[in-house]
Amino acid sequence: MTWSIPLGRVYGTEVRVHVTFLLLLLWIAVIDAGQGGLPAAGRGVLFVLLVFVCIVLHEFGHVLAARRFGVTTPDITLLPIGGVARLSRIPEQPGQELVIALAGPAVTLVIAMVLFAATGTRPSLQAVDTAGSLGGMAARLASVNLFLLLFNLIPAFPMDGGRALRALLGYRMGFVRATQIAASVGQGFAFLLGFLGLIANPILLFIALFVYLGAAAEAHTVQLRQVAQGMIVGDSMMTRFETLPLDASLDDAVRALIRTAQRVFPVVDGTGRLHGVLTQAALVQRAQAGDASAVVADLMTPGIPAIHPYQPLGDALRLLQDGSLPAVAVTDATDQLVGLVTSETIGEVMLTHGVRPSRAAAGAGRQPGRARDAA
Ligand SMILES: [Zn+2]
Repeated sequence: MTWSIPLGRVYGTEVRVHVTFLLLLLWIAVIDAGQGGLPAAGRGVLFVLLVFVCIVLHEFGHVLAARRFGVTTPDITLLPIGGVARLSRIPEQPGQELVIALAGPAVTLVIAMVLFAATGTRPSLQAVDTAGSLGGMAARLASVNLFLLLFNLIPAFPMDGGRALRALLGYRMGFVRATQIAASVGQGFAFLLGFLGLIANPILLFIALFVYLGAAAEAHTVQLRQVAQGMIVGDSMMTRFETLPLDASLDDAVRALIRTAQRVFPVVDGTGRLHGVLTQAALVQRAQAGDASAVVADLMTPGIPAIHPYQPLGDALRLLQDGSLPAVAVTDATDQLVGLVTSETIGEVMLTHGVRPSRAAAGAGRQPGRARDAA
């Protein structure tokens, strides 16, 4: 979801809006303007923005519930079909996931009930003609919230209902199996929706695509965890890499980027102690800004956690995902940097996990001294 624009931070959670949501806004404005001129377009856009506020409130239901279990939410992304709150980790206790999954729909239910009560309309999915009146718009907003509630409760990934389904399955089977089933249901549902879209409404095709991709992403994350089971950090770290000194210039860093195939550079001091990592993205961004005076220490991502080569790979994965970090450092008993785990190294392990190098053979090519010499 890189096609999204940050709007601001609320309670430490970044609220982002996906470009397709803005396209939806534009589309509504154009259609309404065509039918009723500028005032209609203004009302249409205002209405979508109100829906947007309701979706944000829904997402904060998830965020606050997650926080109760110590799970943070780095960001919320708003899509045309709803919001996605990215949890720093998925609680593997079914009870916790169930509460977090249902907290969002609970907020939407409250909003719908309050709006239906305030406008004195009977709960229905029928969009009420606004005719420009405030009450009409509130009633229509209530209907949209009712629709959002029902849509979110469909028991298929990536909807909240899919998460609730996984949590319920999780009481009877393992987390991975429960996810696979919920993801398959989600993808099956996406096909059904896509088929309906072909014969009825093309908008359903878009929704089907989002649902399909969401279900696939969830299945992928869990598959990653499954592959990581039984592996250690040493199986998935790169050991040949260059490091950059803290005071290296932007120029030095650019040359290192071109000279190597690395996308992440550990930044070390004179004693070889790790201070952070410099990513290709940070480097390119600063280089394009034309600020040649910067030193590597200003551009790096500090606070990179370190783990030992014999720790389970799942630990490295959790560190990467929880902190949205570019890399996790691997250090030996003397605290010297011996390797790096990045999403690329883990991706390569995923792609080749049918052929696992034996520990002894892998260990031979993993001499800490050599790794540092190369640096
Ligand atoms: Zn939700």
